[in-house]
Amino acid sequence: ALATGIVGLPNVGKSTLFNAITQAGAESANYPFCTIDPNVGVVDVPDERLMKLAQIVNPQRIVPTSFQFVDIAGLVKGASRGEGLGNKFLSHIREVDAIIHVVRCFEDENITHVAGKVDPASDIETINLELVLADLETVEKRLDRVARQKKSGDKAAIAEHGILTRLQQALAEGKPARTVSLDPDERKLIKSLNLLTLKNVLYAANVNEGDLANPEANPYVQIVKRIAAEEGAEVVPISAQVEAEIAELEGEERAMFLEELGLSSSGLDRLIAAAYRLLGLITYFTAGEKEVRAWTIRQGTKAPQAAGVIHSDFERGFIRAEVIGYEDLLNAGSLAAAREKGLLRLEGKEYVVRDGDIMTFRFNV
Ligand code: GDP
Repeated sequence: ALATGIVGLPNVGKSTLFNAITQAGAESANYPFCTIDPNVGVVDVPDERLMKLAQIVNPQRIVPTSFQFVDIAGLVKGASRGEGLGNKFLSHIREVDAIIHVVRCFEDENITHVAGKVDPASDIETINLELVLADLETVEKRLDRVARQKKSGDKAAIAEHGILTRLQQALAEGKPARTVSLDPDERKLIKSLNLLTLKNVLYAANVNEGDLANPEANPYVQIVKRIAAEEGAEVVPISAQVEAEIAELEGEERAMFLEELGLSSSGLDRLIAAAYRLLGLITYFTAGEKEVRAWTIRQGTKAPQAAGVIHSDFERGFIRAEVIGYEDLLNAGSLAAAREKGLLRLEGKEYVVRDGDIMTFRFNV
């Protein structure tokens, strides 16, 4: 499953945020693995379309799609040299698909800052440097091996050597691997290295409650925004502490609390949505009398692979799919009406599923 890892220096609010995530969490019965691994939290992806579909179809149950967060605590200065629990944590980051970097943007004299003062630019640099150094080591090790293969005239090795050299240069200057422009073929060649700084990053600027209505007024948030803009990354201002409080509320109470804070949605919802975008994920739906359900796929996924998210048999035996766009179904008012109007399309193996598609799969068992 796709997952995003939460990183940041100690005492910036990672655990608080992670606890809010697990509190707000998806129905844990569906996700047995998260009770096994305390560092994995699963959240429902909020999606208004699901409720609207349910109104049309009237199913017995409604199942949102979900999303994994992994708490990667313990990244400290020196981690790339194995300090703290360094290497173990770096290997956890290797396994996630994208990174949420929590940055402390709140002042609180009762909460120690590891570097002595709140300083987002220096915090970000500290974390990024550890990741860069870990990648530099990975790249140099690989370079050694490829250099030997290159001598024997191996074409793939020659190509890889070129890419690795470019990566090495950037990393040695302290720049993340994602600043090196690589075409899709080049990316493929180095994919197995699983470079940490090649992963997309989203900055979560952790602010105090008072800043939530207007986070831009917080100068620390401005600093994070400037750095993120240079990297082409997104920033989501959030208050981990407030999220922890929101996570304990439900329905009406929750809406009232958000209104008091001057917010239309919780920061967590915005963070989930941003992480979803960051991973290039989209949602399709299945809609039957039993259940209306949302499913997550990567952008560009074709119909059989999309079916495979439900069950591998669906992919293996895929024949075709009956498809209607979300807006079309809403306009038609019901699946039956949509069918009468000829709005349901039959699509084959090459169909690229779009965000919001409602799909019915036909398959051989
Ligand atoms: P971690 O080490 O990054 O996991 O940080 P924690 O989540 O344990 O948070 C460190 C301390 O900061 C805890 O005492 C939190 O209650 C506190 N904290 C977290 N978020 C906020 C915030 O937005 N404002 C304030 N004032 N304190 C916070």
